[in-house]
Amino acid sequence: MEVKILDEKNKINNIKLNQAITGYDLLQKYYPSKDKNQIVAFFLNDKVHDLFAKINNDATVQFIFQKDLEGWKALNYGCALVLAYVMKKLYPEAILAIANNYEDGFYLDFDYQQQLKQEDFLKLSEEMTKVLNTNFPISLFCQDLKTTLETYQDNPYVQEYAKLNQINDQICSYLVNNKVKMIASGVAVGTSQLIKHFKLTSITGAYWLGSDKNKQLQRVTGIADWTKEALETKINQIVARKNRDHRFLGKKLGIFMFNDEVGKGLPLFLPNGMIIKKTIQEYLRQQEFKWDYQEVATPVLGSVDLYKKSGHWDHYRENMFSPIAKDNEMLVLRPMTCPHHCMIYQATARSYRDLPIRLSEHALLYRYEASGALTGLERVRSMELTDSHIFARPDQMKEEFKRCFHLIAEVLRTFKIKYDYLSLSLRDSKDTEKYYQDDEMWNTSENALREVLNELKLKYKEIIGEAAFYGPKFDVQIKTALGHEVTISTIQFDFLLPKRFNLTYIDNQNQERHPVIIHRGIIGTYERFIATLLEQTQGVFPLWLAPKQLVILPINNSEEIMAYSTVVCDAFKAKNIRAIISSTETLGKRIKLAHEEKIPYIVVIGNKELKTKKITYHTYQDQKHDLSVTKEVLVRKLLKEINNKS
Ligand SMILES: [Zn+2]
Repeated sequence: MEVKILDEKNKINNIKLNQAITGYDLLQKYYPSKDKNQIVAFFLNDKVHDLFAKINNDATVQFIFQKDLEGWKALNYGCALVLAYVMKKLYPEAILAIANNYEDGFYLDFDYQQQLKQEDFLKLSEEMTKVLNTNFPISLFCQDLKTTLETYQDNPYVQEYAKLNQINDQICSYLVNNKVKMIASGVAVGTSQLIKHFKLTSITGAYWLGSDKNKQLQRVTGIADWTKEALETKINQIVARKNRDHRFLGKKLGIFMFNDEVGKGLPLFLPNGMIIKKTIQEYLRQQEFKWDYQEVATPVLGSVDLYKKSGHWDHYRENMFSPIAKDNEMLVLRPMTCPHHCMIYQATARSYRDLPIRLSEHALLYRYEASGALTGLERVRSMELTDSHIFARPDQMKEEFKRCFHLIAEVLRTFKIKYDYLSLSLRDSKDTEKYYQDDEMWNTSENALREVLNELKLKYKEIIGEAAFYGPKFDVQIKTALGHEVTISTIQFDFLLPKRFNLTYIDNQNQERHPVIIHRGIIGTYERFIATLLEQTQGVFPLWLAPKQLVILPINNSEEIMAYSTVVCDAFKAKNIRAIISSTETLGKRIKLAHEEKIPYIVVIGNKELKTKKITYHTYQDQKHDLSVTKEVLVRKLLKEINNKS
């Protein structure tokens, strides 16, 4: 047989062999690297294996080093197996369900009648350190399904897993220190010797196989790394990311909540969140006014027939809630407003002089997302979108795209959104199932989009096969704190919908023509955008968006000081500045709370201020410097800052 070894520089080394060989022997005999001790596993034809796996046939092999991601995963999976070993030692009755890697390290899920507490957690960690002082093998063995089921006869979890994951009647397991068996769902380093630096991070609950229909098990998570320094760096990164996660910030700052009795994935905006949402909406209304949009309002329901006509029923149904049947009508909660806006267009005879018509709506939409996919405000089932549709003549297409782009660019600049990249999604012409068949339409619109993007001198990625079923699109992509890639703004060309709804205008030759529809989203849904703002600002909103813009802290509750504080507060409120008085608790504690709430301006009023008719303030950004001014001066300063949206 012939084994091709790819080295670190992707150079190929061909080896001819007469018999099967393990990765380990191949490494020792044929691999020229000086750093053999840094190698922990290998790719065998693209699949990761531990070094003791056998190569039986012609194959391509690439060794995996400690510094590689797969190497780090093998270390973490090994550490999870050591945890399993220790768990069985300390709690023999625990049923070990599964050990796995995840992006922040590893976890072990188990079924045990007693809920593990903090002290158990410490005990596990100490025992792991102890056993890791001795060297023992972590070795892989494989069996057929029948033998596997016998091996794990008291373990219903592994039995189920084995039945679901057998390949050619083979299931592999790890044997840790020749004692504890654990079904293999990853690749581990072959010896405990390599595992030196680890930390157990949490005990939580986890549903078996991730489904809330299954039993809830206990989960211990942890992380391992090759050096103490690398481990500390990773842990700090995880903490920083958690502090930036919009779900954590949204709760801490009173922005939104969820309640399963209301329904999964249906966000409730709290007063602070509603102020942010309303402020964004007012700003977008002004922008759309400036760019000549006309606002309309249409209902959250639409008939199934309407969505059949639009094509959504055929292509988008799995993302829609089931219909409601009433009085011979079948109604669905709408996932988008396009069909409603088409009906508004269609109601009037249109001439080429009327176009473009730019309709916009602050629309509530409902989309069915699988419960496992729901993620804070990032993925929800009810959402609000400033959803706009431009009905244009084909010769206006490029100009309208440019206008949309400039609007989006201005808005994203105002919010100081950092985007990841811009993308142009095109069809995969071979995929006749996914895409509406009309070569001319696709070629025309894809070329027009490409031309205009080049005229705008934008850098973008072309992505084949990501277009909508009705046409190509341009998206602004960002990366969330959890590392998810999400779309924030979108401009989509659609030649199909006008045909489906038979939308027309009379051209200058007195001929009936179909307009082009441009679907345009500026900031995506309010839900996702607020999640993005929370993560990118870490909850420190610019003054114009801050739910509370200024807090007044009287130093005591004396009548004169309280009266003066009210006068000051009213002066701000008279100018629509969101000012409040906070008077319970000690002054020190109130200052601390104001900082925790990230309120931009903190005003303190005491006897000196009362006498001089001035106020003393500091900002959240500069907590060390107090300034003393009249209330009129501060009102003007805030108004200027709000106007500038700085
Ligand atoms: Zn649309």
